[in-house]
Amino acid sequence: MEGCIFCKIIKGEIPSIKVYEDERVYAFADINPITDGHTLIIPKAHAENLWEISEKNITAIHQASIKIATAMLKVLGPVGIAVMQLNGKEVNQVVMHYHLHLIPKAAGGSKLKMTEWELVPGDVDKIKGIGEQIGAAI
Ligand code: 5GP
Ligand code: ZN
Repeated sequence: MEGCIFCKIIKGEIPSIKVYEDERVYAFADINPITDGHTLIIPKAHAENLWEISEKNITAIHQASIKIATAMLKVLGPVGIAVMQLNGKEVNQVVMHYHLHLIPKAAGGSKLKMTEWELVPGDVDKIKGIGEQIGAAI
């Protein structure tokens, strides 16, 4: 897509540090890594978000995530890997080309802020109502 930086990365017009590639996906090192090894996996076909990406491409991304996470385990020996994906500017999606973040946490490494939300029990009736509404709309 014209003007999309991740499409430019796929075409090689913007340099990137390639981690993995296959017919459907490209994975590369995040240029502002939250932790060592922070990697992004993107579909080669432009799609902005979860509502636009094809089922085949999202499947390929998650298959690639297993390969890359397994390699991370061998190379970095993380104690955990956070997988994150944002949809929409209001939830801080900055690059409007679907991307899955793989963020390994090293032993003794600093806490991953985005994984540390406070657990506050909700109103069960409200939770039930909303859950049922979503389920019924599928
Ligand atoms: P978002 O908030 O949209 O989920 O995250 C976008 C991510 O893309 C950020 O972590 C940011 O560092 C990364 N990013 C943005 N531009 C570039 C770039 O030109 N090259 C690389 N390698 N990563 C980028
Ligand atoms: Zn794009």
